[in-house]
Amino acid sequence: MFERLTSGMSVVILDLEWNQGTYYTNPRIPHEIIEIGACRIDPEGKIVSRFSRILKPRIYRQIDRHIQKVTGITQEELNRGQRFSDAWQEFIRFTDGARLVTWGRDDFPVLKRNVEFIQAEMPFEPPIDAQLLFGYLFYNDCSRQMNLHSALDEMKITSEIPAHRAVYDAEATALLLPLIDEKLQQLDDSQMEVLEKVLDREKRIALAKLVTFPTSYMSYAEAIADRRVTSFYCPVCGSRAHFAVPWFDAGKEKYEAVARCHSHGYIQGNMHFKKSTKGNVVISQRFSQASEEQVRSVKNKYHAFKMIPENKRHHRLEMRISPSGPKNEASNPG
Ligand SMILES: [Zn+2]
Repeated sequence: MFERLTSGMSVVILDLEWNQGTYYTNPRIPHEIIEIGACRIDPEGKIVSRFSRILKPRIYRQIDRHIQKVTGITQEELNRGQRFSDAWQEFIRFTDGARLVTWGRDDFPVLKRNVEFIQAEMPFEPPIDAQLLFGYLFYNDCSRQMNLHSALDEMKITSEIPAHRAVYDAEATALLLPLIDEKLQQLDDSQMEVLEKVLDREKRIALAKLVTFPTSYMSYAEAIADRRVTSFYCPVCGSRAHFAVPWFDAGKEKYEAVARCHSHGYIQGNMHFKKSTKGNVVISQRFSQASEEQVRSVKNKYHAFKMIPENKRHHRLEMRISPSGPKNEASNPG
């Protein structure tokens, strides 16, 4: 399965469910894994073994009502659950060096943070995103994030697999893999090249450093004026990177910037804001290595931003970066 992408490694499909805080968020672990579901498939795509664990949360001990509704996992099940650190070791043994496949790009960043939180090793590369492959191969659209069950419907696959367990979603994904793989094998070299570029970008994003932290500020403008918020570090070596494009509002309240690490080249930064229940601003940032193409795209967006007349961008923010560090000031194009 997926020989063109895995060079013959065996495949384990992974699906996670996680809980979150209803009233507070620990910035080091905004989502706590409460279920690991996985299945191993043979080269023909047949399921040969399954892995399913419910985990007892340590940070968000009460299941969030919304999460309960979506996952169907009850508080009683969580209370009886296994420790994540034990389940993680068992999962690693289960995979036995296989390449991971997930439906969608969300699981790996959550997994990475949970593993970092217990200071354990991460032996896996970012998974192959079957959802992205499905979008690209069937709709020529990598960003088409189709729900797993809609994808099964589209492919006219009916299954008796019950919903509401991570392992069942992994099994449902397994039903799609032979169809995806068949399409994958039909790609010609130039189509394969396009796909590999996309996968390469996704991999960098999956390996990105994610930071979430609450601030004491009540407004975005105040928050972004704080040097702690705007400083920029290389996700690979952790050293301070130097801005090539300052943080700016790239639309939809998403901020972007580009900086350069002396050793690791261009780093793209993405940032967005959320209000906590108390009204103060919570910031999430992502730092990832960027290709020349991505850098060009951010630069273009920055130029488009600069074209907006200043009196029309009063609700948008831009920081001019001075040698002594970023400052929040409305500035003219430099
Ligand atoms: Zn670096």
